[in-house]
Amino acid sequence: MKRATKNMDEDIQTGQVTAERQLPESKASRRGNAWLLSSVVILTGLLMVMKTESPAADAANPTPAAIEGPFFKPNAPRRTSLLEPGITGTKLVLTGRVLSTAGKPIAGARLDFWHSDSKGDYDNAGYKLRGHQFTYQEGRYRLETIVPGQYGGRTPHIHVQVQAPNGRILTTQLYFPGEPRNQRDFLFSPDLVMKVQEAPDGKVATFDFVLNVK
Ligand code: FE
Repeated sequence: MKRATKNMDEDIQTGQVTAERQLPESKASRRGNAWLLSSVVILTGLLMVMKTESPAADAANPTPAAIEGPFFKPNAPRRTSLLEPGITGTKLVLTGRVLSTAGKPIAGARLDFWHSDSKGDYDNAGYKLRGHQFTYQEGRYRLETIVPGQYGGRTPHIHVQVQAPNGRILTTQLYFPGEPRNQRDFLFSPDLVMKVQEAPDGKVATFDFVLNVK
């Protein structure tokens, strides 16, 4: 992609040089070019602001799906904290909401989380670091767990299934910002990155799921 963009830039530059050689510029056309250039800069800036600062866009776009992977286990216990004796690592508190594409909070949605331990291992014999819960008022959820480790070619991630009452299951994965391995993991999606902050006893993260329901 970078190479294509670079070539395009070079083509544009070459094109401009040729045009300038062929047509001697008058003061008026230079003023015209300057006006056009500043208009393009302002318009580009406006579009960037609209893209990054519009909260409605987030509410309207459904959270993308991601593969389930080989380590899902049904019937994980109902619990909001996956912390238990023997679990070590950096504490992580993840909160957020489950919303419809219209931005309506979905109470009673089922969230089933599973992820690896801090060394990148899954508990396939039991249910460590696995659990499901239901959203409460305003579609809110809260998960207490630890930051998962990396394994194989995978950057650290949290698997989750999200389901509105009587709705279809959305299977997806959440990621951490600024992880060097994000760019090398072909499953990574910038749309699935949590907002993460340092906390006195670990990290706090937020993520709102948007389900494709009205
Ligand atoms: Fe995984």
